[in-house]
Parts: sequence; C-alpha cells; structure tokens
Amino acid sequence: MTEWIIPCNVTYYRLRDALVDLKIIDWHQEHNLKNAQVGDIIYIYCTKPVQSVCYKGAILAVNKKVATIDDSQYSIPPIDTMPPAPCMEIAVFREYDLGDELTLEKLHENGLKGYIQGSRRLNGTPVLDYLHKCDIMQRNVDRFVGTISDACLVDFPIAVDEGIYENKQQHNIIIPSEDDKVWAMANSKTYDIINKYCVHAHPVNGSYPKDKVFYFAPINKGGIIENIYTVKKIVVSLPIAAELEKNTQGLEAVERAGIMKYHLERMSTFGYAGDGQIPFRFYVLELFGKVEQPCIKSKIRAVKTFDISEFDFEGNVKTRKQLEIYEDENLQADIEKAFKNIKIEDIPVDYKPMPVPLSKTQTGTVYKRNRSTAIQALALADYKCEIDRNHMLFKRKNKNVDYTEAHHLIPLSAQSKFNYSLDVPANIVSLCCVCHRIIHFGEDSEKLLTKLYYERKDQLKAAGIEISLEELLDLYR
Ligand SMILES: [Zn+2]
Ligand SMILES: [Zn+2]
Repeated sequence: MTEWIIPCNVTYYRLRDALVDLKIIDWHQEHNLKNAQVGDIIYIYCTKPVQSVCYKGAILAVNKKVATIDDSQYSIPPIDTMPPAPCMEIAVFREYDLGDELTLEKLHENGLKGYIQGSRRLNGTPVLDYLHKCDIMQRNVDRFVGTISDACLVDFPIAVDEGIYENKQQHNIIIPSEDDKVWAMANSKTYDIINKYCVHAHPVNGSYPKDKVFYFAPINKGGIIENIYTVKKIVVSLPIAAELEKNTQGLEAVERAGIMKYHLERMSTFGYAGDGQIPFRFYVLELFGKVEQPCIKSKIRAVKTFDISEFDFEGNVKTRKQLEIYEDENLQADIEKAFKNIKIEDIPVDYKPMPVPLSKTQTGTVYKRNRSTAIQALALADYKCEIDRNHMLFKRKNKNVDYTEAHHLIPLSAQSKFNYSLDVPANIVSLCCVCHRIIHFGEDSEKLLTKLYYERKDQLKAAGIEISLEELLDLYR
C-alpha cells in the first residue's frame, strides 16, 4: 500500500464542502499518481492560505477514463466542466484538528523536502512517520470527542456512508463495547514480544475465546499486568511466513510488519507453530491504557476475566461507563449551543418506533445522538424536573426557559439489546442538575430510576422499546 500526499488549491476549490456533500469525489490522476492503486492512502495538503495537511482518505478507484462525479459547482468561481481525465475516486475518513501540528513548517521540521506543488509518494520518508504520529494523536482526540473511529481506516466505505463530519444536528458517539470484561492470559514466555509488536497469537482450536474480545491483558511472571489492550483485528492463518504474507494483505503496513516480526521471534519460543499445520488466530492489539501500578493477579494458569473497572489507568483513559458519563455531559453543552438557534415549535412530537442509527466498526459501535431530539424532550417536560416539577431551577442564558438536563433513561450503550432507537423523546428525561447527579452517582439512584421507569413505560413501549424495571436498574449497576 502506498501513501500519497496530494495538494489542493483551496483558493480555487471548496474542498471541504465538496467532501461533505459528495462523500466521494473524482480527482485528476496526474502523472505522479499513475501508479496509484485502489486502497492507497492519501493525505490532502491544502495550499495557501491554509498551508496544512487537513484530511486523510483513501483511493477508491483509479484510471477512470472519464470523470463521473460532477463537482463543478465547488470550483471558485463555479465552472461547467468535469475534472480532467484520467481520474481517480477519493474519499476522506479523517479531518485533522491538531492546531499547528500539520503545517508546512512542521512538515519541514519533520523531514519534508521542498514544497508540495504536485502529488508525491511518502513511503520510506521521515515525514510519513511524522504523519503517522499525528494520526495517533488525532485518533486519541477522535475517541473522546466522538467523531468516527479509526476503524474506518480499514473499511473506508463505512466511514464514507456514515459521514465523517459532525452534522449540525447529530453527534457521533463511540461506544467501545458492551462487554467490559478483560481477558487476561498467562503469557510470561511471550510477554515481551506481545508488548513489543502489539500482536498476540493462539491456536484456533485452543481453549481461548473464538470471538473477538474487546479487552486483552497479557500476564507476566508473578501475575503482573502492566498493559491492557483492545483487540483491533483478528487474522486466522497457518503460522508460516508465506501464509501470513497472504493472509495479512488487508492490514495496514505497520500491523502487518508487527505480525511478521512477532512470528519470527515467536518461532524460537515454546509451543508455537510445530510443523505449521495448525491454524493460529493472530490478534492485532492496540494499547487501551497502562495500568497505574503494575497490578498483581496471581494464581492464573491460563485465562481469567476481570472487569475493566478493577484497573486504574495512567492518564486520561476512559472506560465505557466513564465515557458514557462524559458523553452525557457533552450532550448538555451541545444542547446549550443549539438552544440559541432552534425553534422548538417546529419539532414534531412522535413516540413511534425509530430505526437504530448505528454502524458497526472494528473497535465498537458508533451511534448517532441527535441533540434536537434531546431539546424536544426537554420541551415536552415543559423544562421542569421530571422527578418533581417543583424542584428549584434557574433560567438559561440563551433562551427564556428553565435549565434542565437531558438524560437517556436507558443508556445508549445498551442499544444493541433493542430493535429500535434509544435516542428518542420517549427515552430522554428532563432533570434538574441535582436529580441528574443523583441518578449517576447518588445512593438514591434506584429510587429515582424506579419513578421515571413507571412514568415512561408506556411511551417507551410506543417507541418499540420494552424493558423491565429490573433490567433497567441492572444497566446502572
Ligand atoms: Zn445522565
Ligand atoms: Zn430534580
């Protein structure tokens, strides 16, 4: 796979608008790009006045004899011709938002030679390593501000369908997994190479989980756990170099190299490969977090599972429950922002079942959260606290209504248990800030949830959502 940098003159082309509206655009495949292949990665560098790499994407088609995607209206001024042939189709799956990190100056500091006047190949250049580093930074940002996950790196059409950009009304939330279990395995003999290459492997027929698990922790001698990983991808292959070459073709270069190096080093350790006739499952790992102090979980022979909440992480690593609370707070900020412009009267009220707005990705599930639905729910409650209409409130800054907070009664992370959307007015309650805190952190949480449950039961049912009180309470434990 080749990685390219291609310039775009943004004084003559409204690139962002074209990307947002068309999702896929035809790009002139100039001479430098004649060897471009489907699946190659592109970094789009925007010329003056931006002078920065702004997007990362992929090439979806090459050597088209005529352009078929009409983007003439995005030219400045609009023209009535199609892009010149030959052309290639490109789509973007990441927009960088890293301040000055990707400016021309920074690229020069990190090994870029000259100016970016034409497209060029980046493989083997120091600046590509730098771009990869920036990409990891952006992915960490993405993870928590909730744009699309890095899974689209593998499966870009999903990213394209989903829309990479935060729509004015919607906000994508990444919910890592419903399963908070950490699969911990005694791996003292391969401990070092797992950590070195972010790869782990086991015979397919072994007693280990056959499905992808979310969290994985190798255990060193003495029961020590230092790193917790998420399982990014799984490849099944015979542990023979030629087979691995073949079976890892869909992976990113760095992942592929990791597997090959792991394979070479693992050959000299115990219990691996044999005559190469037993298929292995290779797990591509991504560091989820380093545990604050190497913790000791002794007496583990083979596999044991722990709850992710049993570990304390260094730095700003959030588990699913923490992420959910974080997203819940983001929603309040989002609502405040939208309040200025929104006309509440325009929003129709309906308790009918709504389809689930989700997409499966490699690292989890992305749900869309619609802030106008949340505002609608607040309006339906007449901006009162639904625990008690007389709870003390204050006026909002931007609108002449009382401030209450929107809370999803059934958490969005439980979406996969339901056939219809949980992001609907029936499932969103309006609460004063004290009651909202009690629900998340208070001793009386269950009391309040019980009251809300009986008040919302019928509306939820109308929206196609059936749940018992016990099941609801379980989701908060
Ligand atoms: Zn809440
Ligand atoms: Zn209240």
